[in-house]
Amino acid sequence: MALIVQKFGGTSVGTVERIEQVADKVKKFREAGDDLVVVLSAMSGETNRLIDLAKQITGQPEPRELDVIVSTGEQVTIALLAMALIKRGVPAVSYTGNQVRILTDSAHNKARILQIDDQKIRGDLKAGRVVVVAGFQGVDEQGNITTLGRGGSDTTGVALAAALKADECQIYTDVDGVYTTDPRVVSQAQRLDKITFEEMLEMASLGSKVLQIRAVEFAGKYNVPLRVLHSFKEGPGTLITIDEEETMEQPIISGIAFNRDEAKLTIRGVPDTPGVAFKILGPISGANIEVDMIVQNVSHDNTTDFTFTVHRNDYVKAEQVLKNTAKEIGAREVIGDTKIAKVSIVGVGMRSHAGVASRMFEALAKESINIQMISTSEIKVSVVIEEKYLELAVRALHTAFELDAAAPQGE
Ligand code: ADP
Ligand code: ASP
Ligand code: MG
Repeated sequence: MALIVQKFGGTSVGTVERIEQVADKVKKFREAGDDLVVVLSAMSGETNRLIDLAKQITGQPEPRELDVIVSTGEQVTIALLAMALIKRGVPAVSYTGNQVRILTDSAHNKARILQIDDQKIRGDLKAGRVVVVAGFQGVDEQGNITTLGRGGSDTTGVALAAALKADECQIYTDVDGVYTTDPRVVSQAQRLDKITFEEMLEMASLGSKVLQIRAVEFAGKYNVPLRVLHSFKEGPGTLITIDEEETMEQPIISGIAFNRDEAKLTIRGVPDTPGVAFKILGPISGANIEVDMIVQNVSHDNTTDFTFTVHRNDYVKAEQVLKNTAKEIGAREVIGDTKIAKVSIVGVGMRSHAGVASRMFEALAKESINIQMISTSEIKVSVVIEEKYLELAVRALHTAFELDAAAPQGE
């Protein structure tokens, strides 16, 4: 008998019919003798709808109040699933994050889980009940409702699996595993049987939203066996593994990630003196804005151009801060661009192969796609390009690195 944590995403619980289907599935596992903790998202579109309601009241909702409203989505689905299970003769109980006591810090809208009280859940499992837990939410020391950031139900699932020392955490979604790239963009994308935690972490942080970054971090840290599967189709899914050896036979690149979440800012004609990077980025980090990629060019007249990217949500704030800095340090001008995209190739195989980056640049050059910025790490190469070329770039790279499936795979 195994203890399994199963997380079902928004589309998998998007309607009452789907919730009934999930109940059928959970019932089957239960009848096979497994102990089950089921973590649910809100119905697909619901979290957006709730955020939208808040924004009708104010452009900048109080983070605490936003958590109070967005956490309601998951409260609806857990109750419906518990009812559907009970209707099927499967004893079940639903809990909100507060009721379990998923303790988090107080960083509203992006809280981190600090501790999970497993007593209540263990008691229910012992009594033969399926425990249905609201994903995405927790509670801080003061009793305020918190949420874990978009896609946070994945993290609830993995954190519960870690706390309960579950045999496996299964992430059920609308694709049958992790693919070489988003199958919605590249129809020839292929499902991976396995991917390492390290690669999955890079893929997630570089834009593949199939798993939330923190869920992968958690799974890696606590060594939680993690599998991504289709909610309603049978199949092996994708195992996220620590074992690099097992994936050695894979191509150099495991996957291609991309995002449109960033914006670029350039400060031109900055007097090129020691400490200039700090003068520019100090106030940016002081305004709590995270910087991703950075490029500094030295020009001939003792001035430099300095370019960096930030999350698009922070663009307006960053531009303001940078304009103030420009005045203070006597820079010539500040320019920005929000129509950029970042494309990244990821693979542990890069460690043992030379020339991966140049192969990437060649593939982009063949499509006449200009590269604006580059950053590399041991297992990834990222480039910033014009947003309109994003899909072309991803497809070209997918082909160049021989990731295309023989025949198109439909979802
Ligand atoms: P859920 O609501 O179940 O959490 P998400 O929408 O968060 O589902 O994640 C699943 C989606 O992730 C898929 O529909 C797919 O379009 C997208 N996705 C992005 N990159 C990948 C990838 N490399 N492999 C599989 N799916 C991906
Ligand atoms: N409902 C939340 C969201 O849409 C959390 C999740 O689905 O994982 O972001
Ligand atoms: Mg998700």
